[in-house]
Amino acid sequence: MILDWGEIASRLEGIVGGDNITVDPVDLLVYSYDASLERGRPNAVVFPTSPEQISQIVKLANQEGFPVIPRGGGSNVSGGVLAIKGGVVVSLTRMRRILEVDEKNFQVLVEAGVVCADLNMTMARYGLFFPPDPASDKACTMGGMICENSGGIRAVKYGVTKNWVNGLEVVLPNGEILWTGGKSRKNVSGYDLKSLFIGSEGTLGIVTKALLNLQPLPETRLVASAYFKTSEEAGNCVYVIMRRRFDPSGAEILDRATLKAVEEYSGLRFPECGAAVLVELDGDREDVERRLKRLSQIFQESGAIESRIAEDEAEGAQIWMARKAAFPALTLRRPTARMEDVSVPLSNLARMFEEIGRVSREHGVEIATFGHAGDGNLHPILLWDERDKEEHDRAMAALKALWRSALKLGGTVTGEHGIGVSKLEMMGEEHGRSELWAMRAVKEALDRNNIMNPGKAIP
Ligand SMILES: Cc1cc2nc3c(=O)[nH]c(=O)nc-3n(C[C@H](O)[C@H](O)[C@H](O)COP(=O)(O)OP(=O)(O)OC[C@H]3O[C@@H](n4cnc5c(N)ncnc54)[C@H](O)[C@@H]3O)c2cc1C
Repeated sequence: MILDWGEIASRLEGIVGGDNITVDPVDLLVYSYDASLERGRPNAVVFPTSPEQISQIVKLANQEGFPVIPRGGGSNVSGGVLAIKGGVVVSLTRMRRILEVDEKNFQVLVEAGVVCADLNMTMARYGLFFPPDPASDKACTMGGMICENSGGIRAVKYGVTKNWVNGLEVVLPNGEILWTGGKSRKNVSGYDLKSLFIGSEGTLGIVTKALLNLQPLPETRLVASAYFKTSEEAGNCVYVIMRRRFDPSGAEILDRATLKAVEEYSGLRFPECGAAVLVELDGDREDVERRLKRLSQIFQESGAIESRIAEDEAEGAQIWMARKAAFPALTLRRPTARMEDVSVPLSNLARMFEEIGRVSREHGVEIATFGHAGDGNLHPILLWDERDKEEHDRAMAALKALWRSALKLGGTVTGEHGIGVSKLEMMGEEHGRSELWAMRAVKEALDRNNIMNPGKAIP
Protein backbone atom coordinates (compact mmCIF):
# COMPACT_ATOMS: atom_id res chain seq x y z
CA MET A 1 0.00 0.00 0.00
CA ILE A 2 1.38 3.44 -0.93
CA LEU A 3 0.83 5.92 1.87
CA ASP A 4 0.06 9.58 1.27
CA TRP A 5 2.57 11.10 3.72
CA GLY A 6 1.45 14.65 2.98
CA GLU A 7 -2.09 13.78 4.06
CA ILE A 8 -0.90 11.75 7.08
CA ALA A 9 1.36 14.61 8.22
CA SER A 10 -1.48 17.09 8.10
CA ARG A 11 -3.72 14.76 10.11
CA LEU A 12 -0.93 14.28 12.65
CA GLU A 13 -0.55 18.06 12.83
CA GLY A 14 -4.27 18.26 13.55
CA ILE A 15 -3.69 15.98 16.57
CA VAL A 16 -0.49 17.43 18.09
CA GLY A 17 -0.40 20.99 16.69
CA GLY A 18 2.06 22.55 14.24
CA ASP A 19 4.81 23.08 16.85
CA ASN A 20 4.86 19.41 17.78
CA ILE A 21 5.60 17.75 14.45
CA THR A 22 8.49 17.79 12.02
CA VAL A 23 8.91 16.40 8.51
CA ASP A 24 12.01 18.49 7.82
CA PRO A 25 14.52 16.18 6.04
CA VAL A 26 17.36 17.36 8.32
CA ASP A 27 15.35 16.51 11.44
CA LEU A 28 14.36 13.15 9.94
CA LEU A 29 18.03 12.42 9.30
CA VAL A 30 18.84 13.14 12.95
CA TYR A 31 15.99 10.86 14.06
CA SER A 32 17.29 8.06 11.84
CA TYR A 33 20.01 7.45 14.48
CA ASP A 34 20.18 6.14 18.00
CA ALA A 35 23.29 4.98 19.90
CA SER A 36 23.54 1.78 17.83
CA LEU A 37 25.33 1.41 14.52
CA GLU A 38 22.10 0.81 12.56
CA ARG A 39 20.00 3.45 10.76
CA GLY A 40 16.30 3.89 9.90
CA ARG A 41 14.65 7.07 8.62
CA PRO A 42 11.13 7.97 9.74
CA ASN A 43 8.58 9.85 7.61
CA ALA A 44 7.61 12.15 10.47
CA VAL A 45 8.44 12.81 14.10
CA VAL A 46 5.74 13.94 16.52
CA PHE A 47 6.09 15.31 20.07
CA PRO A 48 2.72 14.68 21.74
CA THR A 49 1.92 16.25 25.09
CA SER A 50 -0.83 13.93 26.39
CA PRO A 51 -1.84 10.24 26.36
CA GLU A 52 -5.03 11.21 24.50
CA GLN A 53 -2.97 12.65 21.62
CA ILE A 54 -0.90 9.46 21.53
CA SER A 55 -4.08 7.40 21.47
CA GLN A 56 -5.31 9.35 18.42
CA ILE A 57 -1.94 8.94 16.66
CA VAL A 58 -2.04 5.18 17.25
CA LYS A 59 -5.64 4.94 15.99
CA LEU A 60 -4.61 6.81 12.85
CA ALA A 61 -1.68 4.41 12.39
CA ASN A 62 -4.10 1.46 12.49
CA GLN A 63 -6.39 3.10 9.94
CA GLU A 64 -3.60 4.06 7.54
CA GLY A 65 -1.24 1.17 8.24
CA PHE A 66 1.97 2.99 9.19
CA PRO A 67 4.46 1.97 11.90
CA VAL A 68 4.64 3.90 15.18
CA ILE A 69 8.02 4.02 16.92
CA PRO A 70 8.05 5.20 20.55
CA ARG A 71 11.19 7.13 21.45
CA GLY A 72 12.62 8.53 24.69
CA GLY A 73 16.20 9.81 24.86
CA GLY A 74 17.29 7.71 21.86
CA SER A 75 20.25 6.39 23.86
CA ASN A 76 19.59 2.69 23.33
CA VAL A 77 22.36 0.75 21.66
CA SER A 78 20.30 -1.92 19.89
CA GLY A 79 18.50 0.07 17.17
CA GLY A 80 15.24 0.07 19.13
CA VAL A 81 14.00 3.50 18.01
CA LEU A 82 14.93 3.28 14.35
CA ALA A 83 12.20 3.49 11.75
CA ILE A 84 13.46 0.47 9.82
CA LYS A 85 10.17 0.26 7.92
CA GLY A 86 9.54 4.03 7.85
CA GLY A 87 6.64 5.45 9.86
CA VAL A 88 6.16 7.95 12.63
CA VAL A 89 8.51 8.39 15.58
CA VAL A 90 6.55 9.33 18.69
CA SER A 91 8.94 11.24 20.94
CA LEU A 92 7.96 11.38 24.61
CA THR A 93 10.43 14.16 25.41
CA ARG A 94 7.72 16.82 25.82
CA MET A 95 5.95 14.72 28.46
CA ARG A 96 8.42 15.19 31.27
CA ARG A 97 6.47 16.34 34.32
CA ILE A 98 6.88 14.89 37.79
CA LEU A 99 3.19 14.65 38.64
CA GLU A 100 3.11 13.56 42.29
CA VAL A 101 5.73 12.90 44.96
CA ASP A 102 4.19 10.62 47.60
CA GLU A 103 6.81 10.91 50.35
CA LYS A 104 4.86 8.77 52.82
CA ASN A 105 4.81 5.80 50.45
CA PHE A 106 8.25 6.45 48.88
CA GLN A 107 6.64 6.72 45.46
CA VAL A 108 6.58 9.14 42.57
CA LEU A 109 4.25 9.43 39.58
CA VAL A 110 6.03 10.66 36.45
CA GLU A 111 5.38 11.19 32.77
CA ALA A 112 7.38 8.84 30.58
CA GLY A 113 9.71 11.53 29.21
CA VAL A 114 11.28 12.40 32.59
CA VAL A 115 15.06 11.98 32.38
CA CYS A 116 16.57 9.66 35.00
CA ALA A 117 19.19 12.12 36.36
CA ASP A 118 16.58 14.92 36.55
CA LEU A 119 14.31 12.67 38.59
CA ASN A 120 17.09 11.86 41.03
CA MET A 121 18.10 15.49 41.35
CA THR A 122 14.54 16.36 42.35
CA MET A 123 14.10 13.33 44.61
CA ALA A 124 17.30 14.19 46.53
CA ARG A 125 15.42 17.20 47.94
CA TYR A 126 13.08 14.71 49.63
CA GLY A 127 15.96 12.50 50.85
CA LEU A 128 14.90 9.81 48.36
CA PHE A 129 16.31 8.26 45.19
CA PHE A 130 15.33 6.02 42.27
CA PRO A 131 18.06 3.32 42.33
CA PRO A 132 18.38 2.14 38.69
CA ASP A 133 21.25 4.22 37.28
CA PRO A 134 22.30 3.57 33.68
CA ALA A 135 25.56 5.28 32.75
CA SER A 136 23.39 7.23 30.28
CA ASP A 137 21.25 8.65 33.11
CA LYS A 138 21.64 12.23 31.92
CA ALA A 139 19.97 11.32 28.61
CA CYS A 140 17.67 8.36 29.14
CA THR A 141 14.00 8.67 30.02
CA MET A 142 11.80 6.66 32.34
CA GLY A 143 9.84 5.29 29.34
CA GLY A 144 13.07 4.11 27.70
CA MET A 145 14.36 2.59 30.92
CA ILE A 146 11.09 0.77 31.53
CA CYS A 147 10.87 -0.55 27.98
CA GLU A 148 14.51 -1.73 28.04
CA ASN A 149 14.28 -2.85 31.69
CA SER A 150 17.54 -1.00 32.14
CA GLY A 151 20.15 -1.75 34.74
CA GLY A 152 23.21 0.15 35.83
CA ILE A 153 25.97 0.22 38.38
CA ARG A 154 23.67 -0.11 41.41
CA ALA A 155 21.67 -3.03 39.98
CA VAL A 156 23.99 -5.39 41.86
CA LYS A 157 22.33 -4.28 45.12
CA TYR A 158 19.01 -2.74 44.09
CA GLY A 159 18.03 -4.72 41.02
CA VAL A 160 16.99 -3.38 37.61
CA THR A 161 14.16 -1.05 36.55
CA LYS A 162 11.45 -3.73 36.82
CA ASN A 163 12.06 -3.93 40.58
CA TRP A 164 11.06 -0.27 40.98
CA VAL A 165 7.91 0.06 38.88
CA ASN A 166 4.57 -0.19 40.71
CA GLY A 167 2.14 1.03 38.08
CA LEU A 168 1.98 2.05 34.44
CA GLU A 169 -0.24 3.96 32.08
CA VAL A 170 0.10 2.58 28.56
CA VAL A 171 -1.46 3.45 25.21
CA LEU A 172 -2.10 0.03 23.68
CA PRO A 173 -1.47 -0.71 19.99
CA ASN A 174 -5.23 -0.27 19.29
CA GLY A 175 -5.25 3.20 20.90
CA GLU A 176 -6.94 2.16 24.18
CA ILE A 177 -5.42 3.76 27.28
CA LEU A 178 -4.73 1.23 30.04
CA TRP A 179 -3.69 1.69 33.68
CA THR A 180 -2.15 -1.28 35.47
CA GLY A 181 -0.81 -1.61 39.00
CA GLY A 182 -1.20 0.89 41.84
CA LYS A 183 0.25 2.17 45.08
CA SER A 184 0.00 -1.07 47.01
CA ARG A 185 3.46 -2.68 47.01
CA LYS A 186 1.93 -6.14 46.99
CA ASN A 187 -0.65 -6.90 44.34
CA VAL A 188 -1.41 -10.29 42.79
CA SER A 189 -4.79 -9.45 41.32
CA GLY A 190 -5.03 -10.82 37.77
CA TYR A 191 -2.17 -11.16 35.29
CA ASP A 192 0.86 -9.00 36.05
CA LEU A 193 0.42 -6.85 32.94
CA LYS A 194 2.87 -4.25 34.17
CA SER A 195 5.70 -6.77 33.85
CA LEU A 196 4.60 -7.57 30.30
CA PHE A 197 5.31 -4.00 29.21
CA ILE A 198 8.60 -3.74 31.10
CA GLY A 199 11.36 -4.71 28.68
CA SER A 200 8.93 -4.87 25.72
CA GLU A 201 11.09 -2.44 23.69
CA GLY A 202 8.13 -0.37 22.56
CA THR A 203 6.51 -3.31 20.74
CA LEU A 204 3.43 -3.72 22.95
CA GLY A 205 2.37 -0.12 23.58
CA ILE A 206 3.52 3.35 24.53
CA VAL A 207 4.17 4.02 28.21
CA THR A 208 2.85 7.46 29.12
CA LYS A 209 3.04 7.48 32.94
CA ALA A 210 4.83 5.42 35.55
CA LEU A 211 4.37 5.04 39.28
CA LEU A 212 7.86 4.36 40.63
CA ASN A 213 9.09 3.16 43.99
CA LEU A 214 11.85 5.10 45.70
CA GLN A 215 14.41 4.38 48.39
CA PRO A 216 15.59 6.64 51.22
CA LEU A 217 19.05 8.02 50.38
CA PRO A 218 21.78 6.20 52.33
CA GLU A 219 23.75 8.18 54.91
CA THR A 220 26.96 7.64 52.98
CA ARG A 221 28.41 6.05 49.86
CA LEU A 222 32.13 5.28 49.71
CA VAL A 223 34.14 3.82 46.86
CA ALA A 224 37.19 1.56 46.99
CA SER A 225 39.34 0.57 44.04
CA ALA A 226 41.83 -2.28 43.59
CA TYR A 227 44.28 -2.98 40.76
CA PHE A 228 45.22 -6.44 39.48
CA LYS A 229 47.69 -8.01 37.05
CA THR A 230 44.95 -9.63 34.94
CA SER A 231 41.22 -9.29 34.23
CA GLU A 232 40.73 -12.90 35.35
CA GLU A 233 42.21 -12.08 38.81
CA ALA A 234 40.01 -9.00 39.02
CA GLY A 235 36.96 -11.11 38.05
CA ASN A 236 37.76 -13.65 40.74
CA CYS A 237 38.07 -10.88 43.34
CA VAL A 238 34.54 -9.65 42.49
CA TYR A 239 33.27 -13.20 42.87
CA VAL A 240 34.81 -13.42 46.38
CA ILE A 241 33.27 -10.04 47.33
CA MET A 242 29.82 -11.31 46.33
CA ARG A 243 30.33 -14.69 48.06
CA ARG A 244 31.31 -13.00 51.34
CA ARG A 245 28.07 -10.97 51.31
CA PHE A 246 29.51 -7.45 51.23
CA ASP A 247 26.26 -6.27 49.64
CA PRO A 248 28.02 -3.68 47.44
CA SER A 249 25.94 -1.00 45.71
CA GLY A 250 28.42 -1.17 42.82
CA ALA A 251 31.01 -3.77 41.80
CA GLU A 252 32.53 -2.79 38.48
CA ILE A 253 35.48 -3.99 36.48
CA LEU A 254 37.58 -2.11 33.92
CA ASP A 255 40.30 -3.77 31.84
CA ARG A 256 43.62 -2.23 30.87
CA ALA A 257 42.47 -0.84 27.50
CA THR A 258 39.47 0.84 29.15
CA LEU A 259 41.62 2.34 31.93
CA LYS A 260 44.03 3.80 29.35
CA ALA A 261 41.16 5.35 27.37
CA VAL A 262 39.59 6.79 30.55
CA GLU A 263 42.97 8.25 31.60
CA GLU A 264 43.33 10.03 28.25
CA TYR A 265 39.73 11.23 28.35
CA SER A 266 39.36 12.30 31.97
CA GLY A 267 42.86 13.17 33.16
CA LEU A 268 42.56 10.68 36.06
CA ARG A 269 45.61 8.48 36.72
CA PHE A 270 45.48 4.76 37.61
CA PRO A 271 48.33 2.47 38.79
CA GLU A 272 50.03 0.36 36.06
CA CYS A 273 47.90 -2.82 35.97
CA GLY A 274 45.89 -5.27 33.85
CA ALA A 275 42.47 -4.46 35.34
CA ALA A 276 40.73 -2.51 38.10
CA VAL A 277 37.84 -3.33 40.37
CA LEU A 278 35.67 -0.50 41.73
CA VAL A 279 33.41 -1.22 44.67
CA GLU A 280 30.85 1.08 46.24
CA LEU A 281 29.37 0.44 49.68
CA ASP A 282 26.40 2.45 50.94
CA GLY A 283 24.58 2.67 54.25
CA ASP A 284 25.30 4.07 57.71
CA ARG A 285 28.78 5.58 57.92
CA GLU A 286 30.03 3.34 60.73
CA ASP A 287 28.83 0.19 59.00
CA VAL A 288 30.32 1.26 55.64
CA GLU A 289 33.71 2.03 57.24
CA ARG A 290 33.73 -1.35 59.00
CA ARG A 291 32.97 -3.17 55.73
CA LEU A 292 35.60 -1.15 53.87
CA LYS A 293 38.29 -2.39 56.27
CA ARG A 294 37.29 -6.00 55.57
CA LEU A 295 37.22 -5.20 51.86
CA SER A 296 40.85 -4.05 51.92
CA GLN A 297 41.76 -7.49 53.30
CA ILE A 298 39.86 -9.24 50.51
CA PHE A 299 41.70 -7.13 47.94
CA GLN A 300 45.03 -8.20 49.44
CA GLU A 301 44.06 -11.88 49.60
CA SER A 302 42.92 -11.72 45.95
CA GLY A 303 46.37 -10.53 44.85
CA ALA A 304 45.74 -6.80 44.31
CA ILE A 305 48.88 -4.86 43.31
CA GLU A 306 47.44 -1.80 44.99
CA SER A 307 44.14 -0.65 46.50
CA ARG A 308 42.70 2.70 47.49
CA ILE A 309 39.71 3.95 49.45
CA ALA A 310 38.19 7.23 48.36
CA GLU A 311 38.50 9.85 51.11
CA ASP A 312 34.95 11.08 50.78
CA GLU A 313 31.81 10.98 48.64
CA ALA A 314 33.15 13.68 46.30
CA GLU A 315 36.18 11.52 45.40
CA GLY A 316 33.86 8.52 44.96
CA ALA A 317 31.60 10.53 42.65
CA GLN A 318 34.66 11.44 40.55
CA ILE A 319 35.56 7.75 40.19
CA TRP A 320 32.00 6.94 39.04
CA MET A 321 32.12 9.82 36.56
CA ALA A 322 35.25 8.25 35.09
CA ARG A 323 33.53 4.84 34.96
CA LYS A 324 30.49 6.36 33.25
CA ALA A 325 32.84 7.96 30.70
CA ALA A 326 34.31 4.57 29.75
CA PHE A 327 32.23 4.08 26.59
CA PRO A 328 32.55 7.65 25.24
CA ALA A 329 36.31 7.48 25.98
CA LEU A 330 36.68 4.24 24.01
CA THR A 331 34.70 5.55 21.02
CA LEU A 332 37.58 7.99 20.42
CA ARG A 333 40.04 5.15 19.82
CA ARG A 334 38.76 3.81 16.51
CA PRO A 335 36.20 4.98 13.89
CA THR A 336 33.70 2.29 14.95
CA ALA A 337 32.83 1.19 18.47
CA ARG A 338 30.11 -1.28 19.36
CA MET A 339 29.06 -1.74 22.99
CA GLU A 340 27.91 -5.25 23.88
CA ASP A 341 26.27 -6.40 27.10
CA VAL A 342 26.68 -10.15 27.47
CA SER A 343 25.75 -11.47 30.90
CA VAL A 344 26.86 -14.75 32.47
CA PRO A 345 26.33 -16.49 35.81
CA LEU A 346 28.69 -14.91 38.33
CA SER A 347 30.73 -18.10 38.75
CA ASN A 348 31.63 -17.87 35.02
CA LEU A 349 32.81 -14.26 35.05
CA ALA A 350 36.52 -15.06 34.89
CA ARG A 351 35.83 -17.61 32.10
CA MET A 352 33.94 -14.96 30.13
CA PHE A 353 37.04 -12.77 30.34
CA GLU A 354 39.11 -15.67 28.97
CA GLU A 355 36.58 -16.05 26.14
CA ILE A 356 36.76 -12.34 25.29
CA GLY A 357 40.57 -12.61 25.10
CA ARG A 358 40.34 -15.70 22.90
CA VAL A 359 37.78 -14.11 20.52
CA SER A 360 39.87 -10.95 20.25
CA ARG A 361 43.04 -12.92 19.38
CA GLU A 362 41.37 -15.38 16.99
CA HIS A 363 39.56 -12.68 14.99
CA GLY A 364 42.22 -9.98 15.26
CA VAL A 365 39.73 -7.43 16.66
CA GLU A 366 40.50 -5.04 19.52
CA ILE A 367 38.06 -5.55 22.40
CA ALA A 368 38.12 -3.42 25.54
CA THR A 369 35.94 -4.59 28.41
CA PHE A 370 34.34 -3.01 31.44
CA GLY A 371 31.08 -3.67 33.18
CA HIS A 372 28.88 -4.60 36.06
CA ALA A 373 30.98 -7.51 37.24
CA GLY A 374 28.99 -7.96 40.45
CA ASP A 375 26.03 -9.25 38.49
CA GLY A 376 28.01 -10.96 35.73
CA ASN A 377 27.10 -8.33 33.12
CA LEU A 378 30.06 -7.25 30.98
CA HIS A 379 30.40 -4.61 28.28
CA PRO A 380 32.96 -5.81 25.73
CA ILE A 381 33.51 -2.89 23.32
CA LEU A 382 34.53 -3.98 19.84
CA LEU A 383 36.70 -1.38 18.11
CA TRP A 384 37.34 -1.34 14.38
CA ASP A 385 36.87 0.64 11.16
CA GLU A 386 33.62 -0.29 9.44
CA ARG A 387 34.80 1.32 6.16
CA ASP A 388 37.39 -1.46 5.83
CA LYS A 389 35.38 -4.42 4.51
CA GLU A 390 37.84 -7.09 5.61
CA GLU A 391 38.16 -5.63 9.12
CA HIS A 392 34.39 -5.18 9.32
CA ASP A 393 33.78 -8.85 8.45
CA ARG A 394 36.23 -9.91 11.16
CA ALA A 395 34.46 -7.69 13.70
CA MET A 396 31.08 -9.19 12.82
CA ALA A 397 32.47 -12.72 13.18
CA ALA A 398 33.99 -11.76 16.55
CA LEU A 399 30.64 -10.38 17.67
CA LYS A 400 28.86 -13.64 16.93
CA ALA A 401 31.60 -15.63 18.63
CA LEU A 402 31.22 -13.45 21.75
CA TRP A 403 27.46 -13.97 21.87
CA ARG A 404 27.94 -17.71 21.49
CA SER A 405 30.53 -17.76 24.28
CA ALA A 406 28.03 -16.11 26.63
CA LEU A 407 25.34 -18.66 25.70
CA LYS A 408 27.83 -21.52 26.14
CA LEU A 409 28.58 -20.26 29.66
CA GLY A 410 24.89 -20.31 30.58
CA GLY A 411 24.38 -16.58 29.98
CA THR A 412 22.52 -14.29 27.61
CA VAL A 413 23.46 -12.08 24.65
CA THR A 414 21.92 -9.09 26.42
CA GLY A 415 21.86 -8.34 30.13
CA GLU A 416 20.44 -4.82 29.79
CA HIS A 417 20.47 -3.30 26.28
CA GLY A 418 17.72 -5.34 24.67
CA ILE A 419 17.42 -7.09 21.34
CA GLY A 420 16.19 -4.23 19.14
CA VAL A 421 17.34 -5.00 15.63
CA SER A 422 21.01 -5.51 16.51
CA LYS A 423 20.64 -8.96 18.09
CA LEU A 424 17.51 -10.31 16.42
CA GLU A 425 19.53 -13.01 14.66
CA MET A 426 20.43 -14.56 18.04
CA MET A 427 16.87 -14.98 19.35
CA GLY A 428 16.55 -18.42 17.73
CA GLU A 429 19.79 -19.59 19.40
CA GLU A 430 18.94 -18.23 22.84
CA HIS A 431 15.25 -19.15 23.07
CA GLY A 432 13.39 -22.36 22.43
CA ARG A 433 10.65 -22.68 19.78
CA SER A 434 7.79 -22.67 22.25
CA GLU A 435 9.16 -19.64 24.07
CA LEU A 436 9.38 -17.73 20.79
CA TRP A 437 5.87 -18.90 19.86
CA ALA A 438 4.51 -17.54 23.16
CA MET A 439 6.25 -14.19 22.62
CA ARG A 440 4.76 -13.91 19.11
CA ALA A 441 1.31 -14.90 20.39
CA VAL A 442 1.39 -12.03 22.92
CA LYS A 443 2.52 -9.56 20.25
CA GLU A 444 -0.18 -10.69 17.78
CA ALA A 445 -2.92 -10.56 20.42
CA LEU A 446 -2.15 -6.97 21.41
CA ASP A 447 -0.99 -5.56 18.08
CA ARG A 448 -3.14 -7.14 15.38
CA ASN A 449 -1.97 -4.79 12.63
CA ASN A 450 1.69 -4.96 13.68
CA ILE A 451 2.03 -1.18 13.84
CA MET A 452 3.86 -0.88 17.18
CA ASN A 453 7.63 -0.72 16.60
CA PRO A 454 7.55 -3.57 14.06
CA GLY A 455 10.65 -5.64 13.36
CA LYS A 456 12.11 -5.20 16.86
CA ALA A 457 12.79 -7.52 19.80
CA ILE A 458 11.22 -10.72 18.42
CA PRO A 459 11.99 -12.24 15.02
C1 LIG B 1 26.98 5.80 26.95
C2 LIG B 1 25.83 4.88 27.23
C3 LIG B 1 25.76 4.21 28.44
C4 LIG B 1 24.72 3.33 28.72
N1 LIG B 1 24.68 2.71 29.93
C5 LIG B 1 23.68 1.86 30.23
C6 LIG B 1 23.65 1.20 31.49
O1 LIG B 1 24.51 1.38 32.35
N2 LIG B 1 22.62 0.35 31.71
C7 LIG B 1 21.63 0.13 30.79
O2 LIG B 1 20.73 -0.66 31.05
N3 LIG B 1 21.65 0.75 29.59
C8 LIG B 1 22.63 1.60 29.29
N4 LIG B 1 22.65 2.24 28.07
C9 LIG B 1 21.57 1.99 27.10
C10 LIG B 1 20.39 2.99 27.15
O3 LIG B 1 20.82 4.25 27.62
C11 LIG B 1 19.22 2.48 28.00
O4 LIG B 1 18.63 1.38 27.37
C12 LIG B 1 18.15 3.55 28.28
O5 LIG B 1 17.30 3.15 29.30
C13 LIG B 1 17.32 3.91 27.08
O6 LIG B 1 16.50 5.01 27.43
P1 LIG B 1 16.04 6.08 26.33
O7 LIG B 1 15.09 7.03 26.96
O8 LIG B 1 17.22 6.67 25.67
O9 LIG B 1 15.25 5.12 25.35
P2 LIG B 1 15.26 5.05 23.77
O10 LIG B 1 16.61 4.74 23.27
O11 LIG B 1 14.60 6.26 23.22
O12 LIG B 1 14.29 3.79 23.56
C14 LIG B 1 14.65 2.52 24.01
C15 LIG B 1 13.53 1.52 23.68
O13 LIG B 1 12.38 1.80 24.46
C16 LIG B 1 11.28 2.15 23.64
N5 LIG B 1 10.64 3.29 24.29
C17 LIG B 1 11.19 4.46 24.69
N6 LIG B 1 10.28 5.19 25.35
C18 LIG B 1 9.12 4.49 25.34
C19 LIG B 1 7.83 4.71 25.85
N7 LIG B 1 7.50 5.80 26.53
N8 LIG B 1 6.87 3.76 25.65
C20 LIG B 1 7.16 2.62 24.96
N9 LIG B 1 8.37 2.35 24.46
C21 LIG B 1 9.35 3.28 24.67
C22 LIG B 1 11.84 2.47 22.28
O14 LIG B 1 10.93 2.17 21.24
C23 LIG B 1 13.07 1.56 22.24
O15 LIG B 1 12.70 0.27 21.85
C24 LIG B 1 23.69 3.11 27.75
C25 LIG B 1 23.76 3.79 26.53
C26 LIG B 1 24.81 4.65 26.26
C27 LIG B 1 24.85 5.35 24.93
